[in-house]
Amino acid sequence: MSTPKRFPASLKSAAVPQRELLMPQRHLRQATVDAARLARPSGTGLDSGAVRERMVNRLRAEGKFNEQVLAAMAAVPRHEFVDTALAAQAYEDTALPIGHGQTISKPSVVAHMLGLLMASPAARQRGSLGRVLEIGTGCGYQAAVIALLARQVTSIERLQGLHDKAQANLQRVLLPRAPRLIWGDGRVGYTGGAPFDSIIAAAGGEDIPPAWTAQLAPGGRLIAPTATSGRGQVLVVLDHVVDNGVSRWVRSEHEAVLFVPLKSGIV
Ligand code: SAH
Repeated sequence: MSTPKRFPASLKSAAVPQRELLMPQRHLRQATVDAARLARPSGTGLDSGAVRERMVNRLRAEGKFNEQVLAAMAAVPRHEFVDTALAAQAYEDTALPIGHGQTISKPSVVAHMLGLLMASPAARQRGSLGRVLEIGTGCGYQAAVIALLARQVTSIERLQGLHDKAQANLQRVLLPRAPRLIWGDGRVGYTGGAPFDSIIAAAGGEDIPPAWTAQLAPGGRLIAPTATSGRGQVLVVLDHVVDNGVSRWVRSEHEAVLFVPLKSGIV
């Protein structure tokens, strides 16, 4: 702060210390705003697209994810799908509890699984996942991402508490086409919406339920965490291939994963 050397002080010299005196107050105000953002995670801090863009850029830097999937993930506010207390972690590459003993998958796992679905010959040609069945709605996050990549999404959840929660979460998020949510046992698929171009399971089973294979459209692809005898739970991809009018299902095994169990019945 410059001290005026002459009396009376000129207007110019008086104006300088005045500006300097105001600055600490401005910083204090800014600090309050910053603190409020951290304490109130669904405030402007997490609502801004920049924080989602950073998460997606970290994934993009790994160079192995589908660009259309990353763009969809950049558009879905993940913090709207987790409890307020965990919202600050919503854009880290981590699985988070969503209640009822279940978890929302890591963003990199969501990106990887949806990338595998987008890589099927039919999805590449279409540029979309087509009509999708998701088993395990959970909090509804992945269903929202899929909604931006598909023509139609049907998602089944066996726990009514989570089904209701997902319904409420999805209502807060603006999507061009809202996913159809069903409370039911996803092991039987959903005959009302079959056949599906893409089927994705968010819970790991001992096998791939026959209903899913039966409800997979010709050219369709299914991805499901499934138990194997040698490698534990791995991502299994099943393609419904039609040659000369004859259907066959081609199975390939990908990396080892650890998903919550696929259970029977509804609660
Ligand atoms: N995709 C979800 C993650 C869900 S975790 C998300 O983005 O949040 C897996 C979910 O599968 C759990 O909510 C669990 O209750 C559900 N689940 C397990 N077995 C099921 C079944 N047979 N039918 C439908 N949902 C099932």
